[in-house]
Amino acid sequence: MIRAIYPGSFDPVTLGHLDIIERAAKTVDELIVGVLNNSGKTPMFSIDERVSMLKNVTAAISNVKIMSFSGLLVDFAKQTGATIVVRGLRAISDFEYELQMAQTNRKLYPLLDTMFLATSLKYSYLSSTIVKEVAFFDGDIQEFVPESVVESVQEKVQARKRMREND
Ligand code: ADP
Repeated sequence: MIRAIYPGSFDPVTLGHLDIIERAAKTVDELIVGVLNNSGKTPMFSIDERVSMLKNVTAAISNVKIMSFSGLLVDFAKQTGATIVVRGLRAISDFEYELQMAQTNRKLYPLLDTMFLATSLKYSYLSSTIVKEVAFFDGDIQEFVPESVVESVQEKVQARKRMREND
């Protein structure tokens, strides 16, 4: 039984993430999408919102489980019995950091290996940050995120704009 973790912020989940989830789920027995609860960052969506959006968009994939975690990835892997970390690679700029993380994780926990999936060409430009930027300037994000996520992002953006106006 091979259990893998696909960790990330998923703030919000994009079609690029979903593509990696679908492809990784075909290669392992169980895929845990680990949603990082990082107290050092202020995300657009709360941890519960990110978990719930991911549950929604992966509901049809039976071997995918959504969980939140904080702290070290290796500790989460030990807790869940995962032996593989899945990461997506978009551009060469992702590579250096990803290699460093993969090697650090293996140093900390030698049973844990990292599997890289190359982005599908059509999503190679896509990141959660880009989605938020485009949405902030009222651009169309339908080609960037799953349908059920579009409105949630737009609502958050409008709420942020109202807050700024009242400041
Ligand atoms: P982001 O970098 O978009 O803020 P995350 O921290 O949530 O995203 O990323 C989680 C993982 O998903 C990372 O391995 C990242 O490289 C990968 N990923 C993000 N966007 C894409 C994409 N468009 N195609 C392939 N992999 C991606």
